Amino acid sequence: MNIHEFQAKGIFARHGMAIPTEQVARTPEEARRIAEKLGTRVVVKAQVHVGGRGKAGGVKLASTPDEAFEVAGRILGMDIKGLTVRQVLVAEAVEIDHEAYVGIILDRQTRRAVFMVSAAGGVDIEEVARDTPEKIHKLAVDPLLGLLPYQARSLAYKLYSDPAQVKQAAGMLARLYDAFIESDASLAEINPLVTTPEGKLWALDGKMNIDDNALFRHEEIEAMRDPESEEPTEAEARDADLSFVKLDGDIGCIVNGAGLAMATMDMVKFYGGMPANFLDIGGSSNPDKVVTAMNIITSDDRVKAVLFNIFGGITRCDDVANGIVTALDRIAAGPGGSLTLPIVIRLTGTNEAEGRKILESVGLVAVDTMAEAVQKAVALGKGAK
Ligand code: GDP
Ligand code: MN
Repeated sequence: MNIHEFQAKGIFARHGMAIPTEQVARTPEEARRIAEKLGTRVVVKAQVHVGGRGKAGGVKLASTPDEAFEVAGRILGMDIKGLTVRQVLVAEAVEIDHEAYVGIILDRQTRRAVFMVSAAGGVDIEEVARDTPEKIHKLAVDPLLGLLPYQARSLAYKLYSDPAQVKQAAGMLARLYDAFIESDASLAEINPLVTTPEGKLWALDGKMNIDDNALFRHEEIEAMRDPESEEPTEAEARDADLSFVKLDGDIGCIVNGAGLAMATMDMVKFYGGMPANFLDIGGSSNPDKVVTAMNIITSDDRVKAVLFNIFGGITRCDDVANGIVTALDRIAAGPGGSLTLPIVIRLTGTNEAEGRKILESVGLVAVDTMAEAVQKAVALGKGAK
């Protein structure tokens, strides 16, 4: 789960990191009031789950409360990479002498938390990573030992030469590591980590990504979820207890079981198609889930064909067949009328014969093998009759 900058910095602050005084506003009036209260020059920042806000015009300095009002008015409602800005962070502006980058990611290859730090931080870090990767220093942390003080210092020396700054940075890195581990994060990042002319270090921007599978033990983080900033279909799927990931292709896939769903996506690609999604309706026998799955998939205009791949084990084929028929009925009764998309169904296993009978009663046919079903769906998606 992604959280907003202000939420990540809230976690940083609770771990003792220095962040600017700041508050969130949903209207220009609120932004003005916060700026008045701060009594300093402020920076107004779009709160959306995407990087590069600065370059997109979503981060602006304001010298007076009136200017904060005016700038917030421009940023609120702005579209940044497809996301609408609904709230801005109004923060005390900091004078910047230097911008560094520090981040931790969970690296699957080494199966460790890996630090990445660079003295060349700021808005161009992507270019630095691409063009001069030698400017990014990495360190994999032993999960049992944690970040050892000498490791924190040696990373800090890659960023600063002034001993007072190295000391502050080493403390920051240790706190960032604690925040990362205690929050069950998969990513924690400060960019920029700034140095002021007086030599003080501040976390000016924060980003964290939390492992969804650990949210059950972080009520306070789960409460940070912002439904306004999520892909609506992914939120709908989560509410219906479906595992769904939206992809870029045109074959909508509805599958029971994560392994079978992966195999189905591989097969779609193997036969020259592109899956529009990963969707696991799970092992239960619940027709409502099929209805929700159909709704989610058919609401994506890119989808050209729908492929069901059901292996009946605990899931019963007749339940899935009922779900398909119910979903089609509901869609037909809805504002868009009957579904015009071609549907291919592979149904095998428990209560297969009953399932087929239900489908046949409404003119749908289940094919026998997975390969046949996938090939057919790909061909139909490309316009075959
Ligand atoms: P991002 O573009 O989404 O990463 O947003 P950031 O919060 O990192 O802001 C982008 C850039 O705006 C930073 O790299 C800074 O150069 C600048 N910026 C942000 N806050 C301040 C501030 O308080 N003072 C000054 N002078 N610049 C700031
Ligand atoms: Mn940033």
